[in-house]
Amino acid sequence: MDNILPIKLQGIENKRPIIIAGPCSAESEEQTLSTAYQLAQMGIKIFRAGIWKPRTKPGCFEGVGAVGLPWLRRVKEETGMLTTIEVATTQHVEEALKAGIDILWIGARTTASPFSMQQIADSLKGVQIPVLVKNPVNPDLDLWIGAIERLYNAGQQQIGAIHRGFTSYGKHLYRNLPHWHIPIELRRRLPQITLFGDPSHIGGRRDMVAPLSQQAMDLGYDGLIIESHCNPDKAWSDASQQVTPEDLKNILSNIVVRETCLVTEKLAELRRHIDNLDNELISILSERMRVSREIGHYKKENNMPILQANRYDEILTKRIAQAIELGMSQEFIKSILEAIHEESVQQQVKIINKA
Ligand code: PEP
Ligand code: MN
Repeated sequence: MDNILPIKLQGIENKRPIIIAGPCSAESEEQTLSTAYQLAQMGIKIFRAGIWKPRTKPGCFEGVGAVGLPWLRRVKEETGMLTTIEVATTQHVEEALKAGIDILWIGARTTASPFSMQQIADSLKGVQIPVLVKNPVNPDLDLWIGAIERLYNAGQQQIGAIHRGFTSYGKHLYRNLPHWHIPIELRRRLPQITLFGDPSHIGGRRDMVAPLSQQAMDLGYDGLIIESHCNPDKAWSDASQQVTPEDLKNILSNIVVRETCLVTEKLAELRRHIDNLDNELISILSERMRVSREIGHYKKENNMPILQANRYDEILTKRIAQAIELGMSQEFIKSILEAIHEESVQQQVKIINKA
């Protein structure tokens, strides 16, 4: 997908961050226009509003539907902003194109469905329009890239990605876990793709919009899509995460955009130091696996099972305590030890089962 182009929008400076703002849902002509006018006045150039809402359960507000399209047409004509909506079916695509929508976005539940993605991609054949693909609900990078690839193979060139976080079971600080390494890896694999952060759906809370926006910018994202509503407390969907245009103005004016790329001798030296340490880490890990294989041979000769639960527990407890003492987090060291242990077990499994 070498030909994915960075998204270039008419009348919009390519300056980070590109901001898309607007309500979760268009609710009425008045709410849509009132929000749009306030956002336009503070310099926002791209307006979002959901028309068809993929709610988890039936019975919730599922969007106003096509009657909202003329409201967005008014937003475009009267404020000059570009407009974007979510499309999930070929019917949505058709109606959006007819209504003069400028940018389409694919919701997280749709990205996760290859059949829907293929149908949407096919329905766009012969049309060039920027399409933003949200990450799928589940933390599966290949599924995200697969959705992008379907659009690309059908001829779309201006494809962007939106990081909106990943669903997980149980209560968490985040509404959707960010798993930052996934969008970072997406960036590594598709360096030209225009990447947006969606702090509203990651955090699910107004007070998290600012820190999550800053973090996205610090990771080099190109833009942000933020839910903003003229009366957030009364919003028909996602009320707790929407901010007023006034709050959005404050949030945006406090974002620090770090653009310089200054590789001085000092930074180069620190990086050499990191390279040396990584080098040592790999050697040590390989030596640890060699010893682990030796233990595998011992267990085989003595007819012992691989997993010795109390020994594993002893390693975890001891090393976690040591790591905390040295200023590292328990979650971090636990995930490292788990990965090492899993690989050790795999290596021993191979030895024990070899005829
Ligand atoms: C939305 O943007 O309002 C939305 C429904 O998002 P997601 O697909 O990320 O849940
Ligand atoms: Mn929403």
